[in-house]
Order: sequence, then structure tokens, then C-alpha cells
Amino acid sequence: MRGLDIAIAGCGPCGLAAALLLHRGGHQVSLFERFKAPQPIGSGLMLQPTGMAVLAKLGLLDAALARGSRVDRLFGMAGKRVVLDVHYAAMRGAATFGIGIHRASLFAILHEAVLRAGIPVHSGRTLAGSALLGKKRALHFSDGQTSAPYDLVIDALGTWTPLAPPTGRELTYGALWASLDWPSDATFDPHTLAQRYAWASKMAGVLPIGIPPGATTPKAAFFWSLRADRLDAWREAGLAPWKAEVAALWPDCETLLDQIHDPNQLTFARYAHRTLAAPAEPALAHIGDAWHSASPQLGQGANMALLDAWALAQGLGQEDSVDAGVRQGIRLRRRHVLTYQWLTALFTPVYQSDSRFVPLIRDRLVGPLSKLWPATAIQASMVSGLVGNPLLPLGLDKAFHVAAPLVEAA
Ligand SMILES: Cc1cc2nc3c(=O)[nH]c(=O)nc-3n(C[C@H](O)[C@H](O)[C@H](O)COP(=O)(O)OP(=O)(O)OC[C@H]3O[C@@H](n4cnc5c(N)ncnc54)[C@H](O)[C@@H]3O)c2cc1C
Repeated sequence: MRGLDIAIAGCGPCGLAAALLLHRGGHQVSLFERFKAPQPIGSGLMLQPTGMAVLAKLGLLDAALARGSRVDRLFGMAGKRVVLDVHYAAMRGAATFGIGIHRASLFAILHEAVLRAGIPVHSGRTLAGSALLGKKRALHFSDGQTSAPYDLVIDALGTWTPLAPPTGRELTYGALWASLDWPSDATFDPHTLAQRYAWASKMAGVLPIGIPPGATTPKAAFFWSLRADRLDAWREAGLAPWKAEVAALWPDCETLLDQIHDPNQLTFARYAHRTLAAPAEPALAHIGDAWHSASPQLGQGANMALLDAWALAQGLGQEDSVDAGVRQGIRLRRRHVLTYQWLTALFTPVYQSDSRFVPLIRDRLVGPLSKLWPATAIQASMVSGLVGNPLLPLGLDKAFHVAAPLVEAA
């Protein structure tokens, strides 16, 4: 099916990718977004081979490699024990890796492509709901206005979408995030996401995120796990006790901590686990975080959003009616979405919880076992987003990047 009039709500990675793919599929696409620029909810994220496969199809993978930082390894220690050591290369038959990237870089890459394609972006438009008018659907805005009806509305408004019924739950833990200069000494490996834990109640992480817009040198995303109900106390206590706590857990972080002078340099991101039961409605598709969101422990959300956008474009291309196309797009993704929602719910308490038992098992049993094959390959496949072979039904290929030029982060 071609030539549909489609409104896409939300200019996150999901909405922007969907706009590009559907524009290429011969549809008239309009984007609606409340902000003029991306909001700093978390400074960095990991692109995995799944999301990279979609970016490769869009011709944007080289730009992501150039602006981000190649990540070959995930490494975590609790005290003196190595409890996480995942090498992407452990997957046989694929020289895979991830990309650490600033959220603003990913936005810029997709947004620039949208502008080049001439797709209209209506910014400063806050969505409040939608209404079915015959077989079409109109958007309701928070200023009381209603749009013309569209053949299809795509809800890519993220976790708190007003276009879907509320569902799921906020998690007890979130994290403070900051973008900092990559340390010029050799303290950190520029191709490793490094983490330190004490039980599951303390976690610090350093992710290389390349050179974001407006910067000239490589940056690190620094994150610190924090219970949402302790955020006010953290602010009131000032930076000194917190810095001492971080330095006690991970002395190498001092060069990063020295760059933090104001609590406002840190943004608190709260996580939620939610999965919509009915992502396909008449003339309405919920995709990306609007369909399913989870804690970023496995680093999959943006990648799942890109896969959803690709699948929806495939579904609409394969079917003769809007609703059948949306249902097909959802069908192509449902198994992988449910698998990763389940895996993320399983693994989140291992790294962020008040449990004493779960991190004990992690440190004493799972950590040592995970260094042995086939656990090494299983873990690499899990963080890559490739469990359940999600690319096959989508006609995507995970060998795309072998030919792509690698750009060093630092
Ligand atoms: C701290 C943190 C770290 C993360 N790390 C990773 C990672 O390493 N790897 C990974 O893959 N994922 C990660 N994620 C998850 C990832 O960011 C999300 O899964 C991804 O951004 C979802 O994309 P989306 O386009 O569906 O939604 P969003 O990115 O949430 O985009 C939604 C868009 O809709 C707009 N919008 C919302 N409501 C309205 C409204 N009412 N009217 C108009 N516009 C509206 C928003 O402004 C936004 O532009 C992380 C998330 C957080 C919070």
C-alpha cells in the first residue's frame, strides 16, 4: 500500500525513523512534536546491532559511527570481583559491536535526514489525544485544536503517551546522568561501557558517547543509580557527600567527578516497565516506548523503537488495508518485544534493587559462570538484542556493519 496520509506523533528515534521509512514507502508524512529540541533525559544510549541494522538501511549508520563511539565490551565489577564481562566479538559468525552515542547526536542524525527529505515537522505541538472519524483518525492538541483526519496516526510519544491508556509501573530506581569530558589520561577504555556495583543498590557507569553536537572533543555519559524517593535528599545534601560515596565505590572516577560543580549538571531519569496489550487500534499504531518501555539495563529501548518503525513500514507495504498493515507490523515485532520485556524485567533487579540475595547470586555464581562458553556468546547475543533472531522476519541483516568504516572515539 502506498500514498497514505500519515501523522506521526513524537520526534524521538521511533517517530523520526518511521517518518523516513514511510516517506520512502511513498506515503505523505507529517511529524508533530511538543519540543523544538530533544530533552536531556539521559545523556547517552547504546545502539545495538539491531538498531544499527535499521540505521544501515536508512543510510545513516556511518553518521552514527562518526558521531558516536564504537563499544566492544561491557565490563562490570563488584568490589574485586568481575561480575560482567561481555565481548560483542563472542558471537560467532559476526564481528559485532555497539555504538555509544549522545541522545542529541542520534536525534540530529535522524532529524537532519527528515529535513533533507522535506518531511514537515510541526514543533511546539503538544498532543492530548486522538479521535476516530469514520475510518480516519484526527489528533487533539493540548490547546484545544483538532487536526484534519489522517489515514493513519502513529503514536511514537514514548512512555507517557496520551494516545494510549495508562499501563505499567514506574520503577523504584532511576539514575542521575551527566555528559562529561572523556578523561584525557588512560583511566578508561574508550571502547568499553564500564560499571561498578555494590550489591544492587549502588551502581556507577561510564559510557563513551563520541562527540555530540556543539562539542569538539569526545564525551562520556556518567550515570549513578538512585532511588527516586531519595532524589530530594540527594539534592539537599549537596555534592560533597555524594562525590565521596562515588569515589569510595570507584576511585578512578575522580577525574569525572572533578567536572561536576553543580547538581543541575546531572539529570535524573526515572524508568518504567510497561507493555500495551493492544498496540494496534483502528487507524492508530503505538510503537517504540509508547508500546513497550523498560529500564535501560539491557540498553534496548531505542533499538526496539527503530525495529518497530521498520516493521510498521514493512507491514503497511505488505498489506492492502491500513489496519491489516498495522497489525502485520505489530505481528512482526511482538515476539521479540515480549522476549526483551521479560528479559529486562528479569535482569533489572540484578543491577538496581534493594535485594541482598540477587546480587549475591550475581557476584558468587552467575559472574564466574558467565565467563565460560557458551555463556559468553549468550550474553553477547542478549545485549546485542539478537535473542530470538529478530532481524530475520524483518528482512534485515546483522552483517551490515562489517563493511562500514570504523571511527575511533578517542
Ligand atoms: C536514562 C536512559 C538511558 C537509556 N539508555 C538506553 C540505551 O543505552 N539503549 C537504548 O536502546 N535505549 C536506551 N534508553 C531507552 C530509549 O531512550 C528509549 O527506548 C527511546 O528513546 C524510545 O524512543 P521513542 O522514540 O519511542 O520515544 P522517546 O524517545 O521518548 O520520544 C518521544 C517523543 O515524543 C515527544 N512527546 C512526548 N509526549 C508528547 C506530547 N504529549 N505531545 C507532543 N510530543 C510529545 C517527546 O518530546 C519525544 O521527542 C534509555 C532511556 C533512558 C531514560
